[in-house]
Amino acid sequence: MHSNDKGINCPVNCVLCSGAEVDNMDVFFTCPSSQNVWNMCEFQSIVQVASVIEENAATVIFNVLANF
Ligand SMILES: [Zn+2]
Repeated sequence: MHSNDKGINCPVNCVLCSGAEVDNMDVFFTCPSSQNVWNMCEFQSIVQVASVIEENAATVIFNVLANF
């Protein structure tokens, strides 16, 4: 548990995969649970490549959008 700046206790690990120090990249792209969702999507290869070469969730999203 980690107390944030509002004094609310939140788990720091991903509750889906128990990965350490969850961040936006895990929530949206690198968590196996998230990858299962992307794998059902017809442009999952674009997302997969973008999530490897980009460092944060926002730049992954812009990278994916630039492909459309
Ligand atoms: Zn996870």
